[in-house]
Amino acid sequence: MPYNPALGYNYHTMHIPTYLGFWLKGFKQKGIVTDTAKSIFDIDFASFKQQADLLIFDVDDTLTAFKQEIPQDTLDLMADLKSKGWQIAVYSNCSEQRSKQLACTFSPLKITSQMQSEKPKAEGYLQLAKEVNIDPFRAIMIGDKIGTDLYGAYLAGIKHRILVEPYSRVHKEPGADIFNKLVRYIEKVFYFVILRNHVR
Ligand SMILES: [Mg+2]
Repeated sequence: MPYNPALGYNYHTMHIPTYLGFWLKGFKQKGIVTDTAKSIFDIDFASFKQQADLLIFDVDDTLTAFKQEIPQDTLDLMADLKSKGWQIAVYSNCSEQRSKQLACTFSPLKITSQMQSEKPKAEGYLQLAKEVNIDPFRAIMIGDKIGTDLYGAYLAGIKHRILVEPYSRVHKEPGADIFNKLVRYIEKVFYFVILRNHVR
């Protein structure tokens, strides 16, 4: 799918065949979503500390509103988590320009990042885990989309997969484009309502 400036999002880095796999078979799997939280500020990270060492965050609508700068309270949370011994990585399908901006934002915190990823293909998640030398089984993926953020983590063998509500909705800030909102909504309706998948 080509980059569409009108939509303001780089879809071309998304791995379409793997995403279609989510709809053809993956989304029927129970347990793609292992936990839910209203936002990153509502996750009880300490409760996972015995089982995990690495936190991988999606960016848009997880750490910040769609395509916005990373707010200070998010950076403060990440710094706090680092001080408590967590390894932190960010993983996003964003444009080259935005990935440069984000690299500057995250560099003082020394956070491992991979942008222009091919979510939901497993390789990118595995690569990130390898870079920080942590077994994916001891990682947690946190994102706002089931079919990309969490399905990819599921394929990569990441043990915990936490779905957060979209940052822009929780914080009443400008949201994603209509296409993204619709896809996110349809995924949730199928996964939680029609299939009655439950959070384990
Ligand atoms: Mg997102």
